[in-house]
Amino acid sequence: MDHIKAAIRTIPDYPKPGIMFRDITTLLGNASAFRAAVDAMLLPHAGRKIDKVAGIEARGFILGGAIAHQLCVGFIPIRKKGKLPGEVVGEEYELEYGSDRVEMHVDAIEPGETVLIVDDLIATGGTAEAAIKLIRKVGGEVAGCSFVIDLPDIGGAKKLEALGVKVASLVEFEGE
Ligand code: AMP
Repeated sequence: MDHIKAAIRTIPDYPKPGIMFRDITTLLGNASAFRAAVDAMLLPHAGRKIDKVAGIEARGFILGGAIAHQLCVGFIPIRKKGKLPGEVVGEEYELEYGSDRVEMHVDAIEPGETVLIVDDLIATGGTAEAAIKLIRKVGGEVAGCSFVIDLPDIGGAKKLEALGVKVASLVEFEGE
């Protein structure tokens, strides 16, 4: 995990002052770190039935696509509002100021299918919680969530665990 953590670049004050932006583009550009991260994101869920992988826009698409390929299963994009062309289900979630919405195609999951949710980082857990609700809304089951990075001081992983979801992450950073 030291190799993976070392491959993540921190950019202070992006996108606004006070935020330490954990940039995984350096990890994605490092062949062995990228591959190790994809393998390690799967391992905690080994033995579980996973019918599909859902990736959260936009960095979750890259990791989730690689994980779906590894598992030989389909991929579902969970996107910001207004981006998907077909009929969608949506879920609002709170931001520090205001709210946002994620959407998924209504026919992306068959009832009873189990779905692994993937993103690069969990902070408040608001985005991932909305993704869990979307999957459950159409009759899917959440097999678990996998992130590269957890910011445990913010408590997002605990929020998802309270919804009965197994949460895995590879590395932690202190603070927000
Ligand atoms: P949250 O809904 O609060 O868990 O935020 C998670 C989403 O915001 C993920 O898609 C992350 O890519 C992004 N994000 C939040 N905080 C950071 C951060 N410090 N560095 C990089 N991405 C972040």
